[in-house]
Amino acid sequence: MNSSQDNSIKEAIKLIEKSGEIYICSHVKPDGDNIGSLLALAMAMKKLNKNVKVLKVDEIPSDYMFLPNVDIIREYELKEKIELFIALDSGDIERLGLGKKFALNAENIINIDHHVTNTKFGNINIVSPSSAATGELVYELIKQMSVKIDMDIATCLYTAISTDTGSFMYSNTSHLTHLIVAELLKTGIDVGEININLYQKRTMERTKLFIDALNNLEIYLDGRIGLIAVTDEMLKSNNAKTEDSEGIVSFIRDIDTVEVACLLKEISKNEIKVSLRSKKEIDVSKISNKFNGGGHIRAAGCTLYTELDDAKKLILDEIEMAFR
Ligand code: AMP
Ligand code: MN
Ligand code: MN
Repeated sequence: MNSSQDNSIKEAIKLIEKSGEIYICSHVKPDGDNIGSLLALAMAMKKLNKNVKVLKVDEIPSDYMFLPNVDIIREYELKEKIELFIALDSGDIERLGLGKKFALNAENIINIDHHVTNTKFGNINIVSPSSAATGELVYELIKQMSVKIDMDIATCLYTAISTDTGSFMYSNTSHLTHLIVAELLKTGIDVGEININLYQKRTMERTKLFIDALNNLEIYLDGRIGLIAVTDEMLKSNNAKTEDSEGIVSFIRDIDTVEVACLLKEISKNEIKVSLRSKKEIDVSKISNKFNGGGHIRAAGCTLYTELDDAKKLILDEIEMAFR
């Protein structure tokens, strides 16, 4: 945390303290950092007797339904005037989906995020690309708000940080990550149980989709690029949902020769969601940026509005270019 980020946190707290009603929201296609950070900050602000509205902008993957108070994330009708809007883990305002309209009606926006590609769309921006997860920034904010971190808040922050660091494996994991997690564990949370919920509850449908997907692995550039396309047909034949393809892209990255892993998901005939991961050389956020996407150096994504075969060509060309 540098001094300008620290100042932003202090300004954010002043704004939170003087606001009665606060909307908070994160990005579409929610992940663990998104849901965990949302719930933790919402619970902390409720302890300060704030009227907190946690806006649901997309379906919550079943992986995170075990989190405490997850049902406070729900739909709200758009209001003309919003006092304070807090955006979490979202690199730009478009990523908020229908939350964007709420943000645009807000007198003040606090933008808390860790994406390198963040556009600083808030009045107050707590943006720290060196943080492993938005959950780390939310931890700092809650601590400075002088709210006691209880087991429920700790469970949510642990989930946020564990999921965005690949269980503390990725290079974004810092000594600060471990210090924060050590503090979270002091509350008495059951890490074994949380990890079973997060990582050892794969359904048979998801497992079968994995097998099917891996049978369709494509390799390019002497094994340095691995690619899988998950078609709509593949989902249907395995009775799986789009969220069930979570984890396939990291499985591709974990192949010894692979530097860049690419997963294409056919959302509809002309809408292909691309997930990119890299191991140690290629900055995949630069690749996704070329297609109006975003993300981090080692994990990024974008959506291509074209047919699957065409999307595959487009993205492969850019990945191969990045190796030159
Ligand atoms: P994913 O591959 O969907 O797990 O996303 C990897 C990273 O890239 C996450 O940090 C996302 O927030 C980011 N990301 C994914 N898709 C997009 C997009 N369309 N625009 C901006 N950032 C994205
Ligand atoms: Mn996220
Ligand atoms: Mn994140």
